[in-house]
This record gives sequence, C-alpha cells and structure tokens, in this order.
Amino acid sequence: MNESEARVEICVTCQGREFERDAAVPVERAFGDVRVAVAARGDRCVACGAAYVPAAALEAAESLITTELVARGVGGPEAARWLRKGAGLAADELAALLDVDPAAVRAWEAEGGAPTRATLAVLGALASDALDGVTTTRDRLRAAGHPPAGTVRIRAA
Ligand SMILES: [Zn+2]
Repeated sequence: MNESEARVEICVTCQGREFERDAAVPVERAFGDVRVAVAARGDRCVACGAAYVPAAALEAAESLITTELVARGVGGPEAARWLRKGAGLAADELAALLDVDPAAVRAWEAEGGAPTRATLAVLGALASDALDGVTTTRDRLRAAGHPPAGTVRIRAA
C-alpha cells in the first residue's frame, strides 16, 4: 500500500481534519507485566491527540516487538500467543510440530499459563524464522518427527 493512500484525513475520534504528519507515535503491546513500546511514525490528530499508524509502519513495529520479545525472553501466555501467531501457526499445527496435545498449547496461552523455557525458545525461533522469511526451525521440528534409519550418506564438500 502506498503511504499517501493510508494517510488519514478525518479523525474517527473527534472528526478533526488537522494532523501532525509523520509524528512520533508509540505502538505499545502488553505481555502480562511487560510492556513493549516502539516509537513508530504516524499521523497525530492536532485536536484530540489520536494517533494513526499506517499499516506498513504498524507491521514493522510489530516485527520489532517480536524481535524484542525473543531477545529478552519474555514469556507468559500473551507472549506465547503472540509468537505462535507471528510464526503463522494455528494452535493445532504448533501442537503437531512439538508433538504435544493441542490442549497443552491452549493451556500455556490461557491466563495463568506459561510455556516452559524450552518451548518459549522454540516459539521464538519459529517467530524469528517467519520474520526472516525462512522455515529452518519448522523444517527441523518436522525432520525430528521422522528421523532416518540406517546409514545416512553425505558427500564431503
Ligand atoms: Zn481527533
């Protein structure tokens, strides 16, 4: 989408028509007690202060949030759900990759739940792969579910 197409002309909060363009506006997400705030660029209504972030900038901010969650090891149910969705996986798909019951995924994403440290690391790897446009972790999980038998022959480089 072209940025000018995404530009807001009328504030949905106050119907104001004057905006501070390309203003610094925070994109914040809460993961339990942890809040992650990204300083994004968007349009701010001069009258009421409502902020509008273009879809592309919002997506970029959410990618930064994912990267930060993974780097800092933020856990808990909200982070688990965020990372799974960032990885583009349905709960059942994730359960199959991890060889756990889908109820386990639902449990660690439910209030008061939390994935183990090992699961969190895998979730982080899956979500990071998605940001990088690769499927390395998913491929490894699939391979680990079907290990080869007998001799594996490879040619030295
Ligand atoms: Zn407004």
